Parts: sequence; C-alpha cells; structure tokens
Amino acid sequence: MSAVTVIDRVNGPAVSERAIHDPAIAAQLARLQAAAHGRDAHGIRDLALRGELAGKTALVSSFGAESAVLLHLMAEIDPNTPVLFLNTGKLFGETLRYRDRLQELLGLGDIRSLAPHPADRAARDPEGTLWARNPDSCCDFRKVVPLKRALEGFTAQITGRKRFQTKNRAAMQAVEFFDDRFRFNPLAEWSQADLEAYTVKHALPRHPLVEDGYPSIGCMPCTRRVAAGESYRDGRWAGLEKDECGIHGVDGEGI
Ligand code: SF4
Repeated sequence: MSAVTVIDRVNGPAVSERAIHDPAIAAQLARLQAAAHGRDAHGIRDLALRGELAGKTALVSSFGAESAVLLHLMAEIDPNTPVLFLNTGKLFGETLRYRDRLQELLGLGDIRSLAPHPADRAARDPEGTLWARNPDSCCDFRKVVPLKRALEGFTAQITGRKRFQTKNRAAMQAVEFFDDRFRFNPLAEWSQADLEAYTVKHALPRHPLVEDGYPSIGCMPCTRRVAAGESYRDGRWAGLEKDECGIHGVDGEGI
C-alpha cells in the first residue's frame, strides 16, 4: 500500500485508485513529487518533458486568456509536444485565430484539434442548444469524452491550472496522478501578477478578448464579460453553481 496521501476527487490532490493499489505507480508518483519539491515552473515542466517521461506527455490547452504562458514554457523544450485543443464547436472566433497566431509564433508542430463525435452531437444535441438546458451534459460530450479519448496512450500531461482560479483548485499539487496518468501543474503556485510579468517579459500576444473584459475564456454561450468588482471566474457559467467543465475529472487545462 502506498504512503501517498489520497484524496480521490476532481480537483483536490488528485490520485486515482490505481495509484493506491499499484505499487509501481505509487512509487513513481512519490518519486516525481519529491523531485518537484522546491522546483519552480521551469523545473516542473522539465520533469514532465524530459527524463523518464520524454515523448510520453501531452499538453492540454484551451488557447484561452493565459494559455500563451504554458505554451511558451513548453515550446522552449520541445515545440512538437502534442497539444490537445478542445474545439467544442462553441468557441469564440477570436480563440481560433489566437490559436493560429500562437502556433505560428511559437512554432507549435503538433496541435490536435478535438471535436465532439458527430454521432454524439446528433444524439445528444442535434439543435446545438444543450448548453442552455444541461451544461454538464453539454460539457461531457463536447469536452470530457473527446479529451479522455485523446489522452489514451499518453503517460502524462501538463496543465495550466492555477490554485487561485477556483476554490477546488486551491489544494492541488504540482504533480498528481489521476485517471491513469501523471498530471503536472507547473503554474499551480502562480498568481495573476506572475502570469502578467511572464507575458510582458516574453512579449507574448494576449487573447483579444482579455482587453474586452473577459479574464477567463471558454465557450461563447457560457462566457460573458466580468464587471468591475466581480471575480476572475464570474464570467463563466454565470448564474450557475458550475465553475468547472468537468475535464479536470479526467485531466485538463484551465479551461
Ligand atoms: S462550456 Fe457551455 S457550450 Fe461549452 S461545452 Fe460546456 S456547456 Fe457546452
């Protein structure tokens, strides 16, 4: 039995049942967590992309408000790292153009655009309005299912999740194991000021909607501007308890 402390839930220090019962996984997780201790974002990135996990890691990106930082960190090591991008069919056009711009700028060589399966779309949301009636179900077939399928075959992934983003992310560790793969969160400790400083230092382009009042950007029907005095994620699924799309239950970026 592993000595790893386990909280088997969506966004806590996520460790799956397999990590508890598979001594080899538990030992590897403990080793990676020990190696991550005291490292900064670059060091955690290196753990994910170099050494024992080189060539086995994917990055999941929404090409949203803060995505350029993680993509830039990754591209410094290997711009051909697979980037999994959930093209839900409900994104802003600005996001698609921003993806293309970052691809060009950073030389990203392996962006994989994940669409919902046509059969799922026909069966579950033929009119494209499920988001208004049942957003959890909409996120499931447009995000969770395609991402889970795309992550098969990868041993690890890197996410851009930050602890400050939601209360559920406040306890996440830099290295986790969830749903059969390691999950690295190199930006876990970063604040919005850290992100801003990195963006300025490297002259990274900003998502065009940020300056238009969208600090967190997801699908068009479920994202609105944030007014003065509102918090960072208040523009996502406004009026609902929901503050996650569900992909972090299977893995994911700060989508
Ligand atoms: S964010 Fe909204 S539109 Fe996008 S998948 Fe979820 S419910 Fe559907």
